[in-house]
Amino acid sequence: MSNIQELKAKVKEYRRRVRDRKKVIRKSKRKLRKKNDPVMGLLVEASESMLELTQDKLHNYEDALEDAKEAEADSKEVVEFVRGLSKPSRHSRHIPREIRQEVWRRDKGQCTNCGSTELLEFDHIIPVAKGGSSTARNVQLLCDTCNRAKADNI
Ligand SMILES: [Zn+2]
Repeated sequence: MSNIQELKAKVKEYRRRVRDRKKVIRKSKRKLRKKNDPVMGLLVEASESMLELTQDKLHNYEDALEDAKEAEADSKEVVEFVRGLSKPSRHSRHIPREIRQEVWRRDKGQCTNCGSTELLEFDHIIPVAKGGSSTARNVQLLCDTCNRAKADNI
């Protein structure tokens, strides 16, 4: 079984766990409303923190799956490039998660042009088509409006 298949199975399993736990919490809360039992209250609290942990794990598996898929796509691309079948451009537009996090922190979750915090997008300062890379230095946060205005000017 490949890594991707394993991760897919994990994601599926944890999605089900999250669903089940939410069901249990809803049920317990209903009981709690009917009868304010302090033990039940504690149980609900414990279930909610368990749910958070389960959701964290789910997100980790989802991220790992995304990375594994990208790695597979990348290696396919390298093989095709080496064989002279394609140019390595298909995936270079993609901005890796670490870079997105770094840019988000650096730009403080705001459009670098107008300071808006809504509909933000990661923008290649120098477009990939013109040789720009997906590094933090060449990526910035722009809101939807500023990004479109920029695209119109290029
Ligand atoms: Zn803006």
